[in-house]
Amino acid sequence: MLPKPVKQKKKRRAFQKSSSKSAAMERADRAFSYFIRQRDANEAGVCKCISCNSNIHWTGITNGHFIGRSNQRLRYDEENCAAQCRACNTIACGKSNRVFHYPGLKRAGRKKMKDVKRRHEEGLEARHGPGIVDQLRERGRELQKTSRAHFDEITQKYRKICEENGWLVG
Ligand SMILES: [Zn+2]
Repeated sequence: MLPKPVKQKKKRRAFQKSSSKSAAMERADRAFSYFIRQRDANEAGVCKCISCNSNIHWTGITNGHFIGRSNQRLRYDEENCAAQCRACNTIACGKSNRVFHYPGLKRAGRKKMKDVKRRHEEGLEARHGPGIVDQLRERGRELQKTSRAHFDEITQKYRKICEENGWLVG
């Protein structure tokens, strides 16, 4: 009888701990995404997708990471991120491959993914200079410790920048 509640208590504590850190990461993601999308918008609030150049209002576009979000060093890197339309972001993540069940379509999906990635690379080079992708890869090798405090710091920083620019705060 005794071990059961102890186990549950432990479990609950572990869950709360992980949920508060992941909640802090979610808040940081949101604050940073609001910053990136409004930074990339013109005066009318319209962004150009970094990969396909389509014009989309910032509220309907995503924050696209060139090197994916699982790299915590680059997750909140301003040069690694740019406004990207939902379709290109989904394709670049490889998620759209799930849609391509048949071998021919799968190949087409892979080709499309490479295409989006290449144009994303060109877009970043146009913006930050030709060495940017190598620089990002190099930077991405640095270790980034993650903690609740780290995510809170990111949240504060980007909420403040948005506020100072008179933008919507995420
Ligand atoms: Zn696009």
